[in-house]
Amino acid sequence: MSTPAAIDREALRAKYRAERDKRLRPDGNEQYIEPTGRFAHFLEDPYVPKVEREPVHTEVTFAFIGGGFAGLVTGARLKQAGIDDVMIIEGGGDVGGAWYWNRYPGAMCDTAAMVYLPLLEETGHMPTQKYVFAPEIYGQAKRIATTFGLYDNALFSTAVTSLDWDDAAARWIISTDRGDRISAKFVGMGTGPLHRPKLPGIPGIDSFGGHCFHTSRWDYAYTGGTYEGAPMTNLADKRVGIIGTGATAVQCIPHLGRDSKELFVFQRTPSSIDVRNNHPIDPEWFATLQPGWQQEWLMNFVTLQTGGFADEDLVMDGWTDITKRIRDRMIEMFKDGTPEGLTPQQAMLQAYEDSDDEKMEEIRARVDAIVADPATAEALKPWYRQLCKRPCFHDEYLQTYNLPNVHLVDTNGKGVERIDETGVWVNGVHHELDCLVFASGFEVGTTYARRAGFETYGRDGQALGDYWAEGMRSKHGLHVHGFPNLFVVAPNQGANLISNITHNFSEAGTTIATIVSHALESGADEVEVTPAAEAAWVELLESSTRAFIGNPDCTPGYYNNEGRPVGRKERLNGSGHPEGPVAYFRYIDTWRTSGEFEGLEFRVRQQA
Ligand code: NDP
Repeated sequence: MSTPAAIDREALRAKYRAERDKRLRPDGNEQYIEPTGRFAHFLEDPYVPKVEREPVHTEVTFAFIGGGFAGLVTGARLKQAGIDDVMIIEGGGDVGGAWYWNRYPGAMCDTAAMVYLPLLEETGHMPTQKYVFAPEIYGQAKRIATTFGLYDNALFSTAVTSLDWDDAAARWIISTDRGDRISAKFVGMGTGPLHRPKLPGIPGIDSFGGHCFHTSRWDYAYTGGTYEGAPMTNLADKRVGIIGTGATAVQCIPHLGRDSKELFVFQRTPSSIDVRNNHPIDPEWFATLQPGWQQEWLMNFVTLQTGGFADEDLVMDGWTDITKRIRDRMIEMFKDGTPEGLTPQQAMLQAYEDSDDEKMEEIRARVDAIVADPATAEALKPWYRQLCKRPCFHDEYLQTYNLPNVHLVDTNGKGVERIDETGVWVNGVHHELDCLVFASGFEVGTTYARRAGFETYGRDGQALGDYWAEGMRSKHGLHVHGFPNLFVVAPNQGANLISNITHNFSEAGTTIATIVSHALESGADEVEVTPAAEAAWVELLESSTRAFIGNPDCTPGYYNNEGRPVGRKERLNGSGHPEGPVAYFRYIDTWRTSGEFEGLEFRVRQQA
């Protein structure tokens, strides 16, 4: 542990504030635009052609909207519970969700595969590396679908247009853009937290005459190469620009730098780039793991990642490192009792700040150690706390700036000035381009219906969007009053574990399968959360003092409403269990295994 005293904390805070202030803008989230007009095709599926088919009119026990990991793990748990009649409905041409759409070069997961890839024991898959690339993740999605028979009844290239509760029949009616009408007793919704691509509302964006695309629909027909890693040979004579330096850009820039004639990276805020240290998984070691290992790894990771204690750090990476540092510092501070002049809470805050300062100093020092040009190195340094933005981990990203054909165009926090027919303007300088890649992220903070692409109408025609107009209201993030037999599968209002999204889904899948089994066994027609139970859960969420996400002191981004004021609505939408993810996972396990299903009503309808 380096001595935090060596860091001038006041000066650092002042620098953080100055860098944040440069980036604050009155339009907040409104600065982004939807891909419409000439960009409308950014939402289309470039991978699987849409083949005409007859509309499907059928009834199922359980329909799941979305074929990503949320739908797959829920489907798997339902099948394991003996509920066979499961239908996945998915807009893409296959399962995989984010990993179906995102096929940019270098795409991989920053969370270790041993904990990120769901159902490894059930599917018998050994991850090839500590962190795996997108094709292997997509492969695991397909493996889950195959193992659990989820392809059998699936509808792909099918977008849901509306979801309506038919009270007389106690069924959900799902309408789609194929003219389907599916009647489902239960519905799950896993439409993805980061699903709808957004574009920066840069003046002149419409006028660009070169080729352009969004990272979530990578155009290999133009660039050449493949997402399995073949070089993008068509870029050898191209001047390529990329807007954005978030988690996606960090992964694809090394590939663009390698293959483009010239690469211009337009940066507004640098990401923090910690070490990756990837390595192959040893099959002999993997074979020694005992049944039940994945659950143990999952709990070990979340415990250490959120500041808890464990005898051993099984994953050992950048996610667990920061909280381990905080914890060790706390132990040191408290070894002779509470430090003088500080309340336990103040001491904890200080331990956190010291660890974070130390970590970020290391991250900035790493930039200096790798990037040869001092001015470029300076511009690549992140001046904010590590969790203000999505932390990134990479061992080739910073090195890319040492290539002679790669140019960092830093906008000093202001963003790209404007775009014209032939290129991009920054600080009064024009950069001529053949191709422009938008690594500008996905909608966050817009309405659920807009991001999902359809509205949900519950009892008495109540729209979910209206019910949540002042913020999300649910029990466990899953159940919403007035929307019987519906399960919303997303991290928020549950564990809200951001570092390992699939862990949230696995738990939700198990919970849903338990509830649905109970409903079917007891002959219940409807399962619904009571208003009191929903209100009590919301009250519990609001009692939380865990407010890192939404911190106004952070540099703007989608973690903090782009630096705009965070009100009750935003807090509710981004909330999780007040005692954190570990507490939630323990709580929900007890809740569902008790068999009492506290807060839910299972209703049997009287026969007419
Ligand atoms: P982000 O929203 O994180 O990044 C968008 C980028 O575009 C930012 O760098 C942003 O700058 C920049 N930008 C926006 N407007 C302008 C402008 N006008 N001029 C210049 N730059 C601009 O999107 P990503 O696709 O990178 O990542 C989204 C999320 O997806 C991640 O946060 C992560 O949760 C997930 N992801 C996960 C991965 C994994 O390993 N599991 C890998 C990739 C993504 P600024 O920062 O200043 O706003």
